[in-house]
Amino acid sequence: METLDYTSYDAMLKVAGEFHGHVCAGICIGTRMAIAGMKKVGISDPRGADRKKLIVFVEIDRCATDAIMAITGCSPGRRSMKIFDYGKMAATFHNLETGKSVRLVARRKQNGQPTEPEEWGRLNEEEIFSVQDVRVFLAPEDLPGKPLRRRDCARCGGSIMDGREVEANGECLCRPCAAGKDYYQPA
Ligand SMILES: [Zn+2]
Ligand SMILES: [Zn+2]
Repeated sequence: METLDYTSYDAMLKVAGEFHGHVCAGICIGTRMAIAGMKKVGISDPRGADRKKLIVFVEIDRCATDAIMAITGCSPGRRSMKIFDYGKMAATFHNLETGKSVRLVARRKQNGQPTEPEEWGRLNEEEIFSVQDVRVFLAPEDLPGKPLRRRDCARCGGSIMDGREVEANGECLCRPCAAGKDYYQPA
């Protein structure tokens, strides 16, 4: 396997663009975020030696998330990427080994966003993001590995893994049953 330079904007932009299908502003921002975030929490080899150390929390379900996924190798299926659909161009990088976490938020550009990928590559980190040290909430049932438990919903009968059930009036319910609404209805 060829060695990837995780500090190289050009090399990482290529990885992200190939995964996403095109290079857009979101891919450029996500690429800069992945490079900066990994560096700040001391991850240099996310697919090799640091394979099990990185968890990324993303706050948007758009292009930048694809860039971060492609570059870091973190993914929902590996439970190393947590997606919060807040519509915010922000992500937190967490080193499981050291506990260090940083959250990067893309700044809104007053005089317009760069249009060319090269321009995104030339900007200083501080021009693109604000950065803060944070502490993340990660329960044992949120971590990679086998499901810790499995319960059945008392209302719909669905099987619920990883402690996502809710106790309501002494019943064990799945989240949609507890909320009384879902993202779909029978057609
Ligand atoms: Zn895109
Ligand atoms: Zn249910």
